[in-house]
Amino acid sequence: MNLEDIREEALKDVNSANSLQELQNVRSKYLGKKGLVSSALKRIKDIPPEERKEFGRKVNELKEFVEDIIQKKEEELKRRELEEKLSKEWMDLTVPVRGTAGSLHPITITLKRIVNIFRGMGFSVEEGPEVELEEYNFDKLNIPPDHPARDMQDTFYVNKPGYLLRTHTSPVQIRTMLKQKPPIQMIAPGKVYRRDDDPTHSPMFHQVEGLVVNEQANFKHMKYVIQEFLREFFQTDLPVRFRTSYFPFTEPSAEVDIGCVICHQEGCRVCKDTGWLEVMGCGMVHPNVLEACGIDTDLYQGFAFGMGVERLAMLLFGIDNIKLFYENDVRFLRQF
Ligand SMILES: [Zn+2]
Repeated sequence: MNLEDIREEALKDVNSANSLQELQNVRSKYLGKKGLVSSALKRIKDIPPEERKEFGRKVNELKEFVEDIIQKKEEELKRRELEEKLSKEWMDLTVPVRGTAGSLHPITITLKRIVNIFRGMGFSVEEGPEVELEEYNFDKLNIPPDHPARDMQDTFYVNKPGYLLRTHTSPVQIRTMLKQKPPIQMIAPGKVYRRDDDPTHSPMFHQVEGLVVNEQANFKHMKYVIQEFLREFFQTDLPVRFRTSYFPFTEPSAEVDIGCVICHQEGCRVCKDTGWLEVMGCGMVHPNVLEACGIDTDLYQGFAFGMGVERLAMLLFGIDNIKLFYENDVRFLRQF
């Protein structure tokens, strides 16, 4: 087949290709390793030496021509495919919704419930960025550089030195103390990120953090606030206990347990037969944290607490797998 015939046939084939798959077949027929253009180039050894240069130039020209018409056709086919898709999937967004227009996500319901209870107790609601300064997420919270919480295993770092995805909502406390003089009484609800992924952990989850700083804040006051919150949240007079614990940013620190809401302390799988469920951490704010934010520790003291929203939602609604919150399965969401 001479070059002129190949050129004409290629033009015909490309024009009659009606799908990207068909065009792909045309591409390999001409430009593939054993394609017509490549085979034509191999014939160069049968050409008299004085004509080889000219022949080579013509084959290259043909190759460029075929590549060019295939590319143009490809763009046309892609455009046509998109137009078809758009016309098929067209919907009228101005049609009024019939019946219920959907419902709130269980995490949203839980967050609203938590925020409303604390608002009722006179707490303000503060927010901070999810891409946070390492300094606010760790240093100012008395988390030294060698602390395991800083490990690459737990923290998502971003491509900008000194920044990370916040691992807790505690940096919002720092931001609040830096811009506001005591008395402070705030909560910080929001998304946090950790490199954890199993049935009870998700790499993104929600926390609500609380902070009270004034002249008299003490452990008894904190216990009262937390107990009242938990009773309101679960709408029942639950047993609550405080267990000594350790956090770098509080001293003394405690973990808060409630009597198991699933088995009423009879023992079950969720409470691992202990009758108790851990629901939050708390403590008196470490003086290093207050001082890092320029608060005079001779005058002021504070307490802080933090809870996982998914954990509380799972207990409130009796859900045993955290992944259900993020799969957005309508059958799951309709239950709320
Ligand atoms: Zn139980």
